[in-house]
Amino acid sequence: MVSSIYQSKIVKMSELNNLFIEMTAKCCNYRCKHCYIDFPMYKKETDFISIDVIKQALEDTIDENIQCIYLTGAEPMTHPDFNAILRMCLKRCNVCICTNGSFINEKKARFLKKVENESENIITFKIGMNHYEEIKNDDVRYRGAYRHAIFALKHLVKYDFYPIVSVANYYKLSDKEIYDEFQGVFRHNDIELSIPNIQISPWHDRSQDSGEIFIDKMGDWDCSIGRMLTKSGVYTCPFLSNDYRGRCGSNFVDYSKKCALETSFCVTCSKSQRPVFAINYTNSEQ
Ligand code: SF4
Ligand code: SF4
Repeated sequence: MVSSIYQSKIVKMSELNNLFIEMTAKCCNYRCKHCYIDFPMYKKETDFISIDVIKQALEDTIDENIQCIYLTGAEPMTHPDFNAILRMCLKRCNVCICTNGSFINEKKARFLKKVENESENIITFKIGMNHYEEIKNDDVRYRGAYRHAIFALKHLVKYDFYPIVSVANYYKLSDKEIYDEFQGVFRHNDIELSIPNIQISPWHDRSQDSGEIFIDKMGDWDCSIGRMLTKSGVYTCPFLSNDYRGRCGSNFVDYSKKCALETSFCVTCSKSQRPVFAINYTNSEQ
């Protein structure tokens, strides 16, 4: 007899390769239309994770095979202890800073290269953009966001970083169009990257709460190779940070390595068939 009880797909994490750290859940100088974060009404509210919580998490995961630590937010570079946290994480492994780029200028890029040079590991950047045209990009993001991102990319490349443009595909463009047009943007702005790094992820549309999860096409999703640390505990992924449906435990001493795919965010992930938050690269062949 076929059971009529619906059971969601369970994902068991294979290895903790990616540690996402939510530096703040609410602090960002932008208010993008496509952002899935619920911002507070009170603009000056702060909620930064403490450096001690991060230090403890790094100690608790010392036997895990963490390959990259992602400093995320909202906007991670608003954290007052950002530099100290970056240095601490770099002692452990490579670090990826997921940012809108607005805090990166020449002086900051030079400083970050100095920090990287003091370490054996590398710093990568994921700079968020939504469109290769300024007007369309800023219509989704924030006035000036496009120029901030280009400015940040130019200075990071100048100091020998290899930044990734992270495109949440709000306009539902083809991968090929995004890749080709961004190459043109790089050329036009003298951003000299031999192979431009573009990472495209589907945009999560809150108004479409349901859909099919394509479990037969599952690859390495963020929840199968990583976990998210927030000031309130451990969660499956950045989409479900501070959401009870993604809760895995209060710390990394004893946390769940399993999670159920049961949210609309999981539907969005399943459309991607590659990690949405961890580093992966899109090329014109895909
Ligand atoms: S920059 Fe990022 S965190 Fe800030 S509002 Fe935009 S999408 Fe959200
Ligand atoms: S939203 Fe994505 S990464 Fe998070 S639990 Fe669902 S499928 Fe996994």
